[in-house]
Amino acid sequence: MSLDERTVGGLRIVIDRDQCVGFGDCAKEAPEGFKLDADTVAVFVTPEVVERERLLRACDACPVDAITVYDESGRQIVPK
Ligand code: SF4
Repeated sequence: MSLDERTVGGLRIVIDRDQCVGFGDCAKEAPEGFKLDADTVAVFVTPEVVERERLLRACDACPVDAITVYDESGRQIVPK
């Protein structure tokens, strides 16, 4: 399994790159945070600069739930 992970302001964000189908919804919502790589799979750009609400929205926008977010206490908040 190919997981890419970042901790941003206490949020742990995990991209399951095997799950990603490259629709780009995450990158559309937060282009500073995510982009599609040469294989049309999502990678992080600089999620640190995206406001928390929009970052969560971008993660939640994924139609195949390839992005999971855990809050400061380790509770999964995306997907809901
Ligand atoms: S929204 Fe999901 S499927 Fe689409 S590019 Fe982002 S991670 Fe991949």
